[in-house]
Amino acid sequence: MIEFKDVSKSYKNGKLALFNINLKIDKGEFVFLVGSSGAGKSTFIKALLKEEDVTSGTIKVSGKDICKIPKRKIPKYRRSIGIVFQDFRLLPNKTVYENVAFAMEIIGQSNKNIRRRVPFVLGMVGLSEKAKSYPSELSGGEQQRVSIARAIVNNPSIIIADEPTGNLDPQTANEIMNIITDINRRGTTIIMATHASDLVDRMKKRVIALKKGIVIKDEERGSYDYE
Ligand code: ADP
Ligand code: ADP
Repeated sequence: MIEFKDVSKSYKNGKLALFNINLKIDKGEFVFLVGSSGAGKSTFIKALLKEEDVTSGTIKVSGKDICKIPKRKIPKYRRSIGIVFQDFRLLPNKTVYENVAFAMEIIGQSNKNIRRRVPFVLGMVGLSEKAKSYPSELSGGEQQRVSIARAIVNNPSIIIADEPTGNLDPQTANEIMNIITDINRRGTTIIMATHASDLVDRMKKRVIALKKGIVIKDEERGSYDYE
């Protein structure tokens, strides 16, 4: 489903952020991306989202070389991937329902589909009761659940989660992890960048560790420790 082949990325200032990355991620896998600050995790994610072009090598997603996607088709490509951020990034003037519905509106879904789908995904993340609340009225964990609902509402085959539990207390982080695991069980590929060592150690999923842009570890049922 995702294949990095000899991928390197250096920024304009000459900073090498990814070096000779070779890896495959199968459909339905759950992958943790770990490494200290500056290791290249964000660059890896940006390369996958085509927010940054790589300097050499190829990245294939669902059989297509994403380096060859023409500019006008990039928005469509990005919408095939659901993204969850550390800081939620909800629209403050829209309700929970509207935040999730908006993701469907911008891809031109019918009101009929929206009215059927949004309550369903709010149910999946346990927020049916909060549909009419505004983000400012929610706890951090609830806000993150809204952002997860928004990420999955259009049925992406891949979810990228960038430090999704970084702003949450341990118990809330566990709840969010359970929801992400549940989404993974339904067949969605998950790539999660994180510093939450305890979560990574407990989950026993694949762990890819980066250091100075190099993959220094890639383990099935791995642990957080690197170096
Ligand atoms: P991480 O997400 O693991 O903290 P990054 O991918 O953000 O790592 O950074 C990898 C390296 O690339 C770091 O040395 C960082 O300083 C550098 N870097 C990141 N973004 C840019 C940029 N836009 N321009 C120049 N250097 C960058
Ligand atoms: P329209 O048919 O005009 O597009 P909808 O009937 O879908 O509008 O929704 C009208 C408003 O009611 C929305 O802006 C939304 O805030 C709210 N709403 C619709 N469905 C729900 C729901 N299941 N739960 C909570 N609020 C909802």
